[in-house]
Amino acid sequence: MQGTSINLLSLDRSAMENYFLDMGEKRFRAKQLLQWIYQRKVTRFPDMTDLSKHLRQTLQQNTNLDLPEIVSQQRSTDGTFKWLLRLKDGNCIETVYIPESERGTLCVSSQVGCSLNCTFCSTARQGFNRNLEVDEIIAQVWIANSVLESPKQESNESGSIEKKPENCFVSNVENQRRPVTNVVMMGMGEPLLNFDNVVSAMRLIMDDYSFGLSRRKVTLSTAGMIPAMDQLRQQCPVSLAVSLHAPDNALRDKLVPLNKKYPIGPLLDCCRRYVGENNRRRVTFEYVMLKDINDSPEQARMLARILRQVPAKVNLIPFNPFPQTRFERSEAETIDRFRDILLAKNIFTVTRTTRGDDIDAACGQLVGDFVDRTSRSKRMQQQTGVFS
Ligand code: SAH
Repeated sequence: MQGTSINLLSLDRSAMENYFLDMGEKRFRAKQLLQWIYQRKVTRFPDMTDLSKHLRQTLQQNTNLDLPEIVSQQRSTDGTFKWLLRLKDGNCIETVYIPESERGTLCVSSQVGCSLNCTFCSTARQGFNRNLEVDEIIAQVWIANSVLESPKQESNESGSIEKKPENCFVSNVENQRRPVTNVVMMGMGEPLLNFDNVVSAMRLIMDDYSFGLSRRKVTLSTAGMIPAMDQLRQQCPVSLAVSLHAPDNALRDKLVPLNKKYPIGPLLDCCRRYVGENNRRRVTFEYVMLKDINDSPEQARMLARILRQVPAKVNLIPFNPFPQTRFERSEAETIDRFRDILLAKNIFTVTRTTRGDDIDAACGQLVGDFVDRTSRSKRMQQQTGVFS
């Protein structure tokens, strides 16, 4: 592909409409293109038969629909899939699919690595390289749907897969139920530090001419970037998850260093603004269960107290260990006791089942394979403190 070629996966509907208007075409071409790409999964312009030959040739010359390469696909014994995808600059990211009886959730990465430094997260130890482009974010959904819809994947066990055939046209799929019914921006990276690209990608995911997911089925998880959360509320109010992990600032400063900039009080105010008048919506608070760090009954009571004023749901995430971490997962009984205290205070609380841990696909275990542009990964290997 030429250097100037535009990847059409990087354009949401309004960007694509502008693209066609600029070239003297009608606005509705954008809808046609979106349907070919996302609903019929056609990535070869010659096969887009309701476009004129001339337009197909122009698109062939000036644009592309390049996808990341699937380096490997692993399937957990519990049915969870994890893909390692190689981007055009050689960096690799991870994407995870979690099937449940009523839904299929795709956990999507937003950055190559992460620039935040949450002490219990293995992505953080890898350091940071760059933000993902819109096409690199949306491609994760495209690839997951496409691989999982392909019948030959049914019996596939872990290991690498063959590349899909170039022309994967399937007719009449518009009304078909897709494997990916929910998207969570909870993979590698802090999505709100890549705001514009993440919002464009989420708009595409929700577009009726693309994957058509409703706002309720797209969740963005943040470590608590307050100004960007306000912007999200105004521009693209998807479901919100906030990584809280501690009931007081002293502890949260250590676990989620971003807390020094955006502490708990203002963060909860921002969450209240996010749900606004709409009582039917709640913010999900993620709380990783770390043995003897944040899991005491007193901390559960404190958590219940600070969440009293926010329409909240709490997700307790048993800590997923990784090499060289000093943290341990709380005992099952400790987690149950913590949950029961919250429930007794009328706070809707669930313990997240750990999925895909045999393939390191669980929360905080995504690491990809990339060049760290910070020196964090090296520094981390030298540190030995309790919170390293
Ligand atoms: N940066 C975003 C999204 C990525 S992390 C955020 O902070 O929300 C997705 C979730 O997994 C977050 O709640 C994160 O705190 C949690 N997590 C990170 N490492 C973990 C680990 N080792 N065990 C369990 N959960 C972890």
